[in-house]
Parts: sequence; structure tokens; C-alpha cells
Amino acid sequence: MQAVMAKKKDDLDNLKRLQNIRNIGFIAHIDAGKTTTTERVLFYAGRTYKLGEVDDGTAVTDWMSQEKERGITITSAATYCLWKNNAVNIIDTPGHVDFTAEVERSLKVLDGCVVILCAQGGVEPQSETVWRQADKYNIPRIVFVNKMDKIGADFFNCVREVREKLKAYPLIMQLPVYKDDSFSGIIDLLKEKAVYFEDDGTKVSYSPYPQDMETEVRKYKDKMIDLLSSYDDSIMERFLEGKEMPEAKLIDSIRKLTLSRKLVPVFLGSALKNAGIQLLLDGICRFLPSPLDLKSVTGFDYKHNIREIEMKTDAFFCGLCFKVAVDPYVGKLHYVRVYSGRVKAGDYIYNSTKKCKERINKIVRMHSNKQEIKDEALCGDIVCFAGLKDTVTGDTLTGGNQKIILEKVSFPEPVISQAIEPKSQANQDKLSFALSRLSEGDPTFKTSYNTDTGQTIISGMGQLHLEIMVDRILREFNIPTHVGRPQVAFKETITKKTTVSGKFIQQSGGKGQYGHVVLILEPIDEGKIVFVNQIKKGAIPREFIPSVEEGVREAAKSGVLEGYPVTKIKVSLVDGSFHEVDSSELSFQMAGNIAFVDGLKKAKPVLLEPVMKLEVFVPDEYLSQVIGDLNAKKAKIISISDKNNIKLIESDVPLRELFNYADVLRNLTQGRGTYTMEPKFYDRVPENIMHKIRGDYSL
Ligand code: GDP
Repeated sequence: MQAVMAKKKDDLDNLKRLQNIRNIGFIAHIDAGKTTTTERVLFYAGRTYKLGEVDDGTAVTDWMSQEKERGITITSAATYCLWKNNAVNIIDTPGHVDFTAEVERSLKVLDGCVVILCAQGGVEPQSETVWRQADKYNIPRIVFVNKMDKIGADFFNCVREVREKLKAYPLIMQLPVYKDDSFSGIIDLLKEKAVYFEDDGTKVSYSPYPQDMETEVRKYKDKMIDLLSSYDDSIMERFLEGKEMPEAKLIDSIRKLTLSRKLVPVFLGSALKNAGIQLLLDGICRFLPSPLDLKSVTGFDYKHNIREIEMKTDAFFCGLCFKVAVDPYVGKLHYVRVYSGRVKAGDYIYNSTKKCKERINKIVRMHSNKQEIKDEALCGDIVCFAGLKDTVTGDTLTGGNQKIILEKVSFPEPVISQAIEPKSQANQDKLSFALSRLSEGDPTFKTSYNTDTGQTIISGMGQLHLEIMVDRILREFNIPTHVGRPQVAFKETITKKTTVSGKFIQQSGGKGQYGHVVLILEPIDEGKIVFVNQIKKGAIPREFIPSVEEGVREAAKSGVLEGYPVTKIKVSLVDGSFHEVDSSELSFQMAGNIAFVDGLKKAKPVLLEPVMKLEVFVPDEYLSQVIGDLNAKKAKIISISDKNNIKLIESDVPLRELFNYADVLRNLTQGRGTYTMEPKFYDRVPENIMHKIRGDYSL
């Protein structure tokens, strides 16, 4: 009986604990004030003692040195703070599209988001990109319109753009108060009170709102009730019966509608001037989901059956590693979102993706770059494990050898590569170590070795991505390097289905070799080589089949046209023959290799190139020059839209044409144009430029 009571109490405590967890991210266009806002949130929630500002490079979350220099947040650091009994985990997400993979990876483990807009700039193209990514993961959101202190700040324009550009239903929660034309406070429409911030924002006072705002306050409060009534019958009934609307009732309704993604509450303030952050924190805790509000998480067992993951501490432990941070001193830190169960420091766990055991030496909660040691991690938590050896980003970790894999985050293939070598040969081993550490932490950063040239090659998502990596190699691992010019990462594929036979037979005296396979090669849309075994009736003994696949994969590393990696092919092993004595793993590996290479030649191979989604922003007067240049680059213009005399041109352009596009655009627009680009798809290289590719195609 006592045990049952204790368990009930445990369950209740756990429920309460989960209800008070918020795993959230701030997402924003670069420069909208994400770093400053995060930093202020940590300050007011009592975690930091000094206000750091991005401009002087002391902001708490921007702890990697090159981020400080560049003033942008690249790595998503998970930071923890407490606000009015709520445990808030903030996953910082990168703002630059070269790091889209990092944004996606963070979104996967978040429950809710704060989208920060700049009051002056409104909804920038990157905010749209990230908004769409958040849609993909069904993440409830609130909006924070920052920089209200700036001249030209336009709160209502931002609200309009949320509706028109992001196609969401904004719910205005606050109004700005101006004194002598400058932003001086915030009207909280729930309380119908003006809120002012003094002493670095540490003193928050509520008072009656200025009388001349009466009409405006009434108008927007009525709009709020109107909007809520249109979704929520209980609000509608109260309204029709003329009953008062208690604050708690409104909060309850707004929470439900935010969680079901019907509405997006909009807050405002100025992070830099310390106004509105506490109200934003209240908004995060009131309206964004706790882990309990989530749709249950599902995984798959090894037979691809769906398995539900229970959000309970007494279920088996299950978590997803969403980031590996590499610290040259501490070693690796694995950021893990715990979806169920509990796990203690010192426990052995199972990496069900890699099928290996791991031991957790230490569990820490990250406060920016400081660590807080914890005895255990419970479901709903976001923590770091130290001591894992083989786990990489995207792996599932479980307790009790549970063979469950959570859905993997998918990352785009790198589109650009560059040769790299240490300035001093003595650093060669150190460089290999640094590269493997960095690629473990970032699945869009890859390294390879070109056996023809003897060069080490690094590949990534764009010029900036590789620049940052080279910079990290210097700063974090202390290895000065030389790099070659960035090259477009071409690929090769086939255009028709073909059947080929490959034989590797040597039978002249002594033990010979005998391997014979028949493969069908056919083009597919997926960007990989899919190998399928369709051998019937033992034409090839089962133990040699993995060798055939190995031979195929080895051959696919270098195509028959220009030696680029081969992709988008399904390879079916359909027949073959063997010899009782002479057949071996090696002979079947060779046969697979020979058949695949032969098949590539017969199946009309073509070269593929990365095409980027390019978004260019230019003032009206430069539009024609920029379009002219894009046409010369054979860009496919998707749309041209207008925003306050600024034009947004969306287009698809082959990466080979975007050599130093930053300089090109600067020259065309006297420095007034801006752009973003990200890999979109691989396309066939037009026949008329093949001769150029056979030369050198560097960026
Ligand atoms: P992030 O790129 O989104 O992380 O933006 P940062 O937090 O680094 O801010 C970019 C710039 O905007 C910095 O110079 C900040 O000082 C400035 N900034 C941030 N918040 C505000 C604000 O509320 N008002 C004003 N005027 N400037 C701000």
C-alpha cells in the first residue's frame, strides 16, 4: 500500500515537473537581436550577474571566439535558466542559412519557439525560411518584436507582415507606449496596465496607461476578445452574456490556441534597452508547450515497427543526441534530449543507432560555456553527457538495450569542397584529429582523402561554412593551415536502366579467385546509392553478399566521367555464380566493383551540379542590374516581390556561377544589396559547359 502511495506521489511530482519545463529556441534573422535577447533572458532569470553586450563581445551565449569576432551565433548552445518555478532550456539556433542543418537539428528537439523580429526590418527572408522549417516540425510559436527603441520601429507593420508573409494569425498582446516620440514602456493588454522598466530593467512597475491611449487600448483589447471568440466557444459565451473576462481565463484560451497553432501571440520590447524581457519570459511560460503538451514521440524497432515512446520517468530511458560539442580540453560533450525514463551518471546505456554500449561519465547542464554537474537526467530534460565514445549527432540512446531508433534528422549533402593541409607537416596527425572531431559535431561538414592528388579535402554547405571551420582549426586546435580554392562539389549519376555482369576470375595454378555477379542499375530520385539483394536459390552464398555491396560502394566513390562521387542509383544484385574452392570475399568484392563500373559506362552517365536557392534584396534602383547579372548567370528567376521599395528576387542558380557573389553584388548595388543562399537540389550540368568543368571549376 505504501509503495503504491509512494509511486502515486512520484507520478504526481513528475507530472508537475514536466508541466514546468519549457524547451524553447529563439529563432531570428541575423542581427534581429537574438543574442542580446537570450543574454537578457539569462540575466533577468538570475543566471548571469553582469549584462554582457554583443557589441563588446561579452554576451554569454556567444562563447566561441570566432562567433564573437563575427558577431553571429553559430553553434546552438543549450542554456538553462529558472523563471517563476519553470525550468527553461534555451536552444540557441544559428541565424545564417549556411547553417540550416543546425537550425533543423535544434528544431527537432524543441517544443516551442520565440521568433524575434526587428521592429524596423520586419519579416526578413531568413525569418521566413526558419518559419517554414518550424512549420515542418509543428512547433508552436510566439513572436517578439525587438528593437522598439529604434527610429523607424514599426510594430504594426511587423504584425501585418506576420499575417501576410508568414501566413499566421497574430494576436497582439501588447502596445508600445511613447513619450516625447521615444519608446518608453509597454501596455499589457491582458492586465490593461502600462509597464515601465527602470534600473537596467531590474525594476518593473505597473501603472494605469496614459489617458490618451484609451481608444487604442479598447480597440486592441476588443480585437483580442474577438479573435479568441472566433475559435473558443467559452470566450464567445462570456462575451455574449456580457460577463467579465478574467485574465486567467484569457491566458488559458490563448495557451490552447497557441499550442494548436491557431494563433501566434505577439510581444514587443527592446532587449538592448532592457524593456519587455520579463513579460516575454512570462509569455514563454504561459503560452509555449511543456513536454507534456507534445504529441507522443515515436521511434522504430529494428524491424521497422513503430514504437511509442512514453513521456514517463518510470519508462525505459530514451534520448536523442542532437549535438556534439567538441572542446579540445574537456573532450566531447553530447547534447541529449531525454524523451523518456531517467538515467544516472555512471550508467551504461545503449546506442541503438550504432548498436554499441556507451558509459555516461558525467551529466552536466550547460549554462553557456559553464557546466553544472547533475546526478541524473529525467524525461523532458535537455542535458549534456560526457564520456560517450562512438555517439554522433542524430543517434538514439536507450536504457536496457532497447532496440529503438528515433527518427533521424536528415541533413543536406555538402556542395562545396576545398583542399586543406597544415602549414607544418609535423601537424598532419593533429589536423586529422581536429577534422574528425569537427565532422562528428557537424554532419554537414565532411572530410575525405583524394588518393590521386594525396590531398585532404573538406566539404560543407557554403564558402562561409568552410571559412569558419578553417578558423576553428586554427583557434581551437592551434593548427595553422593552407587551403586551396573552394571547388564546386559535382556528382555523377546514370540516366538509364541497365543490366551488367561482372566477373573476377583468376584460375591459373594454386588457389584461384572466382567471383561473378549480375547487377541491375537504375536511376532514382534519392541522393544516395541504394543496394538491394535479390539473389534467389543460392546463386551466390550469403556470406559473400556484403562483399558485393562493399565493392559497389567503393566503386561509387569515384565516377567514370570525371571521378566525382556517384549518387542517385538503385543497384539490385540479381544473379551470379561461385566456385566451391576459389570464391572468396575479395573475389566478390572485385566482381561487384567491376560490374558497377561497367554499368555506369553503359547507363549513359551524366554530371550533376549543386543548384542554390538564392534570395537577393536590392533597393528598387538596382533591380535591373541585378536581374541582368542573374540572367547572364542562367539563373531561373522564381519570383520578384516588393517590400517598402526593396525588391526581393528569388532564384535558382548553379553554384558554379556564384563565385564570390558577395563582391559581385556589392559592386552592382554600391553595397546596398544583401543575399542569402542555401543548397536546393542537384541538376544535370548543361552540355555546353562540360568543357569548362573538365578544366578547373573553383569558386
Ligand atoms: P543576432 O544576430 O540576432 O544574435 O543579434 P544581436 O543580439 O547580435 O544584435 C545585433 C545588433 O543589434 C547588436 O548591435 C545589438 O546591440 C543590436 N540590438 C539588439 N537588440 C536591440 C534593441 O532592442 N535595440 C537596439 N537599438 N539595438 C539592438
